[in-house]
Amino acid sequence: MKRVLLSLPILFACSSSLLAQPDLIYRFTPVAEADRLVLDVHVEFVPHGSDSTLLNLPDSYGGQEQFGGISGLRVIASGATLVPTEDRSRVWLRHAGLSRVVFTYRVHERRSGTVELGDHYRAVIRPGLVHALGNSILIVPDVPDSLDIDVAWTDTPSDWRFASSFGLGVGPLRTRQTMRWFRHSLWLGGDLRMRETVVNDRTVAVAMHGSWSFDDRELLRLVRTIIQAERDFFDDHDFPFFLVTALQIGGDNDQGGTGRVNSFGLFLSDDRTIDLRLKRLLAHEIFHAWNGDRTERESPEALVYWFTEGFADYYARRFLLQSGLITPEEYLDDLNANLREYFTSSMLTMSNTTLIDGAPGGRDAQRMPYRRGDILAHQLAAAGAACGRSLDSVVRSYLLDVMRPSRAIANNSLLPALAELLPEADRPLLEGWVGGSVSLDPERALFSQGAELSLKERRRFYLFGERFVVPSYRLSQAERTVRLRP
Ligand SMILES: [Zn+2]
Repeated sequence: MKRVLLSLPILFACSSSLLAQPDLIYRFTPVAEADRLVLDVHVEFVPHGSDSTLLNLPDSYGGQEQFGGISGLRVIASGATLVPTEDRSRVWLRHAGLSRVVFTYRVHERRSGTVELGDHYRAVIRPGLVHALGNSILIVPDVPDSLDIDVAWTDTPSDWRFASSFGLGVGPLRTRQTMRWFRHSLWLGGDLRMRETVVNDRTVAVAMHGSWSFDDRELLRLVRTIIQAERDFFDDHDFPFFLVTALQIGGDNDQGGTGRVNSFGLFLSDDRTIDLRLKRLLAHEIFHAWNGDRTERESPEALVYWFTEGFADYYARRFLLQSGLITPEEYLDDLNANLREYFTSSMLTMSNTTLIDGAPGGRDAQRMPYRRGDILAHQLAAAGAACGRSLDSVVRSYLLDVMRPSRAIANNSLLPALAELLPEADRPLLEGWVGGSVSLDPERALFSQGAELSLKERRRFYLFGERFVVPSYRLSQAERTVRLRP
């Protein structure tokens, strides 16, 4: 459910003199202090009209507290003053009559040991490395409008390299963003390995800090192939730049990821490999560029998770197969695991509204919309193919349509669009399948060709006997050398 915002007007490393004066200037300076590193941040702000502006400080992100990593916030000799509020993460900046205000602060790392999943969103600032989400290091004015922003690293060690949501290198990097999206950025500097490529004239880069058994070029190739496949699917290449970072964390086969502006941050333990799990994470998250990020979702958005998450899982696996990143056998093994989990789940008919109310059932409940949407997408694709209609066309036109202003991904527009793929008599079933009141039918075809269905009956005995019909697929003999057609 992570969001990646990809398409924003961004100018990379342009000469500042060619551009209008920025509304905000940030300078990041890594400073060695005894045996640690800290990050000094210098900010220049042009207030427009008002006498005072609220500043938002890094507080917490993804449940991980960062507030204690900020110190020494002060204004520099301009007549401006800072006034605390009752909320420790908000401070008034009084600047009556001033056309420019300068303030500075320091950020330090809040952990002493290894980065682990669960504290990975907190800034990493240590000798040889700064890795930070904008949410953990940026103090920003609380203004609703987009501002012109200029960011650069200064006084940096000569062997350091730099990558961020807004480009590569020390800068100055120029961008125009709302403060919400500016904080949704990713910043990396230090002893990095970087690889770059081009997808339809736009730079795609990977920046890594850590060591893994795979070659850096393998990760770049994976990112490139997924981005190409997904942009081609939508025939949408309107992306200024894209960065994937990989940061080594502790743990055993641990993997995390977070979608950021024009970028994706990966957190991988040293034993992770480029397997289906990692490939799917990237393909799913990059697909959110069209399915969820540049589009609004109806509220509460859990009502459409079956589409935004479940269909993202379906398309992620599809793109991996069609790009040759997984084999048809791997595709079916992964799908069969999903079918088994769905059709043996006690949450089979858990409604979307239950999910909103905080469903009991933990991960099984959370995963239900993903499974339901993934299987339903297969069924709709196969049903559509049987009558000469294409799920891909319906999904593509739907998503491109809801990208227009004041549209949103919503069940009341999705259901009529998808119903076209079903025979008329089946169309009334769709609402129950999607809402969860009716379980999907295990005997409905998931493929138009290439795979054969077999049904197994499984029993589980708790207090009362439970019986499950579980579908699974294997490749048709004739299709091993042809194509699996999801
Ligand atoms: Zn997702």
